[in-house]
Amino acid sequence: MIAFGATERVIGHGAILSRLLAEMAASRLAHAYLFHGPVGVGKATAARALATALFCEGNPEPCGKCPHCVKMDAGVHADFLYLGMAEGKTRIVVDQVREVARSISLTPLESKWRAALVDDAHLLNEQAANALLKTLEEPPPNTLLILVTDRPGAIMPTLRSRCRAVRFSPLADSELAAWVARQPGVTREVAVEVVKRAMGSVRRAAALLDEELLAREMRFQEEFGRVISGETTLAGLCALAEYWSDRERFVTATTLLGTWMEERIRSAVTGMGAGREVGALLEIKNLAETLVRQVHRFNVNRQLVLEALFIQIAKGRNREGGNSPFPNKGRG
Ligand SMILES: [Zn+2]
Repeated sequence: MIAFGATERVIGHGAILSRLLAEMAASRLAHAYLFHGPVGVGKATAARALATALFCEGNPEPCGKCPHCVKMDAGVHADFLYLGMAEGKTRIVVDQVREVARSISLTPLESKWRAALVDDAHLLNEQAANALLKTLEEPPPNTLLILVTDRPGAIMPTLRSRCRAVRFSPLADSELAAWVARQPGVTREVAVEVVKRAMGSVRRAAALLDEELLAREMRFQEEFGRVISGETTLAGLCALAEYWSDRERFVTATTLLGTWMEERIRSAVTGMGAGREVGALLEIKNLAETLVRQVHRFNVNRQLVLEALFIQIAKGRNREGGNSPFPNKGRG
């Protein structure tokens, strides 16, 4: 584990970080990297760690004590630039890229390097991506650019090909468990539930440490399990849809439904007589995605959306006979 400063640490990804530090020590760092992998596993944190190591007086490993480490930790290092989607916007726009491109081309203020992190790089619009490409084609000396994304396929190929790709995987349950155990005031029971549900994402684990969300998820899985096993009447199903149509609960419900469908499809693909089941599941998944999009775009009634989905899922499951509704339940 690489510590850099008191508060933020990279969890896991030891092999990746060792390799990057070795490249740095041998002066073989690329001008630009593309850190890609699932949401919330620590890609941006690793990018910050690499920049910190680059600035640190005690490198290759960041010492956590020198002025560079302290400033990086506080988020105020003048040679570190962060580029992400501005509040209230839906894409990263060209003016933001130009500003970073200009700053990165200037002489470093505090260290020998300038580093920039482009967070959620798949959100660069076309113009912005082209502007960034220009910088990558002729990178100023002593600069490091790190693009971070969970959707590398959505990045312009010419831009992608200019970066050295580094793939991040979900964290191991043991790595997450060690992190959860260090958080204050977490009981053993909560820790176990959080790790089981976090799916290798430290961001998701952090969110679940809010016990209200954890309780909400556990309740949804319990109730949804009854829908699938056919223990819920139509009236009960509608009551359930009403309860989960509250704005915040709706997010929980649709997120978990999405995960459930993905798990089901994955296990169905490898199962016997897969074709029909996969087809039916994909149909429900497409319906779910369309309906949820409509809720966000056109303010479609959330309760009706959930009723429609619960009914479709209950129908499908009744045909199949009930297996465990959450195949990943025993994970960890
Ligand atoms: Zn340092």
